[in-house]
Amino acid sequence: MHTAIKQNLAEVRSRIEQAARRSGRSADEIKLVAVTKTHPAGIIKEAIAAGATILGENKVQEAEGKIADIGREAAEWHLIGHLQSNKARKAVQLFDVIHSLDSVELAERLERICLEDGREHLSVFAHVDLAGEATKSGIAESELSELAALLRGCKCLKFDGLMILPPYFENPDDARPFFRRLREIRDELLKKNFFFRGKGELSMGMSLDFEIAIEEGATIVRVGTAIFGGRM
Ligand SMILES: *Cc1c(COP(=O)(O)O)cnc(C)c1O
Repeated sequence: MHTAIKQNLAEVRSRIEQAARRSGRSADEIKLVAVTKTHPAGIIKEAIAAGATILGENKVQEAEGKIADIGREAAEWHLIGHLQSNKARKAVQLFDVIHSLDSVELAERLERICLEDGREHLSVFAHVDLAGEATKSGIAESELSELAALLRGCKCLKFDGLMILPPYFENPDDARPFFRRLREIRDELLKKNFFFRGKGELSMGMSLDFEIAIEEGATIVRVGTAIFGGRM
């Protein structure tokens, strides 16, 4: 039995609560995505038994087998990694939320697949690249308004928020300006009424920096290592 998972989850939740309190927020506004990539189905079932309700996977193919084993309805499944266009249809079948929408073309393809497959509601976040890391995924800030405008016209895709994966920093506090800027961008889009629920989520913060992200307004944190330990 991995009682460690239960303890780690409790600890992460308590750290979320403290970070929320420090920044005058309620922990109720912050969702925890337990990032299960590389971990086998058995471990994931333990996390669900320990109270994890939202699970994050970064690869469609890897998630497929695990979701078949664990159950599509056993949790809310979030895709947090880059989505290749040839995996889009599979992603529509497997996931409740896609954090990694990073191009107009991908949005068009997802919308078309949803229409074809009768998927009436697919929640998407735009993955924004604020570091200008051309080799990485994420949409440039300059292209975001075009994507937001396209999403406004979609029937099935629901634009629910923004996601960021800042560059790696030794000192997690160095990620703070990225989180802050993402919130500003969210606020600008909010003013223009681009978000489906009238409220744009901020998916930001991982094991090393989720408390900083919460101080900067994160509404969804994606935590793997602090719950499951290191990955192979
Ligand atoms: C792996 C991953 C995480 C979780 O990272 P940890 O440092 O293990 O908490 C969060 N977001 C994305 C996009 C990831 O790929």
